[in-house]
Amino acid sequence: MNRLTLNTCLKIAQRLFPQNCYLCNAESGAYPICTECQADLTLQSIHACPLCAHPTPNSDICGSCLLSPPAYQRTLAAYQYHFPLDKLIHALKYQHQFALVDTLINPLLLAEYRADALIAMPLHPLRLRERGYNQSLLLANAISQQNGIPVLTHAASRIRNTPSQAGLALKFRKTNILQAFSADPAQVSGKHIAIIDDVMTSGSTLHSLALSLIQAGASEVSCWVVARAVLK
Ligand SMILES: [Zn+2]
Ligand SMILES: [Zn+2]
Repeated sequence: MNRLTLNTCLKIAQRLFPQNCYLCNAESGAYPICTECQADLTLQSIHACPLCAHPTPNSDICGSCLLSPPAYQRTLAAYQYHFPLDKLIHALKYQHQFALVDTLINPLLLAEYRADALIAMPLHPLRLRERGYNQSLLLANAISQQNGIPVLTHAASRIRNTPSQAGLALKFRKTNILQAFSADPAQVSGKHIAIIDDVMTSGSTLHSLALSLIQAGASEVSCWVVARAVLK
């Protein structure tokens, strides 16, 4: 059974058999999250830096982007990264909770969010083998099914298996991730690419991939992320 058929069967089963909320276990009908828990998810602040989506008082460009402008031109974030959203991302990433995808991408489906193509944040082949799937590609495919923007699955790859960014202090993240990606000019040249990722923390990984895409000729790079972490 291919992934699309599996996905369709999963959706039919969800409608036939009422589910229990992944977060509080209350009955949640055809959805993986109940309406109360859905209301606990904090949507991204409308006052945010237009480049990196970090909250700023008057939607000004933040200090970090002024000091060191990123290679991407815009970031759209669905939610703020704190409880209980962090639990949902963890479940998608490590516990095969694929039914959560639609809840996570929903705020990114606004009609004004346009790009020529989507690219999921690539995992290094070794990391992909360990995990068995790339959660960002699941998100990208679901977005594409809704808005019709094609996903380029082989246009960018991770060529260095860098240590996990999560264990590193912010100041080391930029150097850790530099030149970690390669991008195919034949597929990205002249296009506005939207990179799809689950969580944006320092933005270093997104910057590094965006830089590779721009160097390969992309005309513009946006980041569309499920959650934006607020840095202390
Ligand atoms: Zn609930
Ligand atoms: Zn910024």
